[in-house]
Amino acid sequence: MNSMPIVVITGSSRGIGAATARLFAKNGYAVCINYRANEEAALEVQKEIKKLGARCIVVQADVSREDEVVRLFEAVDKKLGRLDVLINNAGILMQQSRLEDLDAERINKLLITNVTSCFICSREAVKRMSTKHSGEGGAIVNVSSVAATLGAPNEYTDYAATKGAIDTLTRGLAVEVAGEGIRVNGVRPGIIDTEIHADGGEPGRVHRLASAIPIQRGGTAEEVAQGIYWLASNEASYATGAIIDLTGGR
Ligand code: NAP
Repeated sequence: MNSMPIVVITGSSRGIGAATARLFAKNGYAVCINYRANEEAALEVQKEIKKLGARCIVVQADVSREDEVVRLFEAVDKKLGRLDVLINNAGILMQQSRLEDLDAERINKLLITNVTSCFICSREAVKRMSTKHSGEGGAIVNVSSVAATLGAPNEYTDYAATKGAIDTLTRGLAVEVAGEGIRVNGVRPGIIDTEIHADGGEPGRVHRLASAIPIQRGGTAEEVAQGIYWLASNEASYATGAIIDLTGGR
């Protein structure tokens, strides 16, 4: 690792990604914040991080587009230096729907945003971190969802399936690069209090489901960030291919 290690967090202008960016910065990382559209939110996170005295760049890039992912990693090479950690966090869901109302356009948009993006970002990270490519190793953490195991019936089966694919990527890539100095792990958050639920058409979803969660509340972005940070840190040096459920028991 660099003396000031470098982390790229996709989708870190808001929610879990933003909380993760703040936590890495507090722990001495130089941070690349990435966002797709909300520049104002991204710049606000950058401002907070700079107040902590950490280095921080902001790069707009739609991670569902291969050319933009390549540009994102080139910006990190140029402006921060050699990458140590990638957090594949950016993700979307869409209006709650039963399967018979889904169409291919929607499903494909979810697939490229939630799955293809993680493959291409991981590819760029492995090229930089793998000892096979003269790198110095590193860590990747994928943000999945407990929806991968529950299937999200009547609401988001397509979203849930994208997260199932992420869990498979985590296992496969972990073994592929385990001998090359790179650890690959994942977190599966449950219901976390962020703005993503509004995109599904139910901004109050966390409140509605709180009593069905054994711990009796939704989680916070900061609680998920702690799990992500631990998996990326040297404290988790023997963890690879692991996926931690952060669900309040659900
Ligand atoms: P959020 O509050 O809606 O934030 C999403 C972030 O991703 C924003 O920074 C957004 O950027 C960015 N983003 C979206 N599409 C992008 C793209 N194509 N390229 C680059 N950035 C993009 O979501 P969140 O709740 O923090 O979710 C973060 C991750 O956790 C997602 O993968 C989600 O599936 C997962 N998750 C969330 C929950 C939950 O209950 N919240 C539960 C399980 C898993 P802009 O600000 O520019 O739009």
